[in-house]
Amino acid sequence: MGDATEALFREDAYLSTAEGIVAAINERGGIVLNRTNFYATSGGQPGDTGFFERADGARITIAGTITGQTKEEIVHLPAPDAARPEIGETLVLHIDWARRYKLMRMHTACHLLSVVCPYPITGAAVGEDESRVDFDLPDAGVSKEGVTADMMALVAANHPIFTQWISEAELAANPGLVKSKNVRPPAGSGRIRLVCIGDEAAVDSQPCGGTHVSETQEVGDIHIGKIEKKGRENRRFRIRFGALPAM
Ligand SMILES: [Zn+2]
Repeated sequence: MGDATEALFREDAYLSTAEGIVAAINERGGIVLNRTNFYATSGGQPGDTGFFERADGARITIAGTITGQTKEEIVHLPAPDAARPEIGETLVLHIDWARRYKLMRMHTACHLLSVVCPYPITGAAVGEDESRVDFDLPDAGVSKEGVTADMMALVAANHPIFTQWISEAELAANPGLVKSKNVRPPAGSGRIRLVCIGDEAAVDSQPCGGTHVSETQEVGDIHIGKIEKKGRENRRFRIRFGALPAM
């Protein structure tokens, strides 16, 4: 138990289907595969849903995906009434792509917001319809109109987005890369995945294990729906799809 699952989404976020072999079924019925394209809940991004297709075409509905005993083990949670596959069985893994693609656009939008608002991040949650990012930002001093316009300028510029692996020593030498105030990237694995925006990461780079679109234009129209005060030093920004509604 606790074996690492090969995480195909880390190298290719666009893999909507893949093939995996059942490695284990845990005591609660969770399915562990040798490899998967299903993202497991972490870093504020919810895990994937979808279905596994058996050789005879039957479907096993997957209601959620989480990490298991270690962060490297990925556990797929079948719907309560779903059939259980056999150990060693080969399955075709289908992500609910419409949902995941929205999450990829939203997650990328959170990165763009962190570029526009370069303040320490105290929390974040990516959702299909709305995301939120909390900043340590005592004085508002920013408007949703201004932040929306700056984010949309980054979208329109169609900057490339790519990942790059660096060593822990390289990260330690560049502490400014970490935007999150409370959450540190996982230490001990020896390498850190950086998500970079712009040619040669000119716009941004920060450690992140999530899934993102490959060009900023794919984010599409987004806007800041609300900026709320959360405590004396925190501001919560809500990102929504679509253009900023006219007042
Ligand atoms: Zn990210």
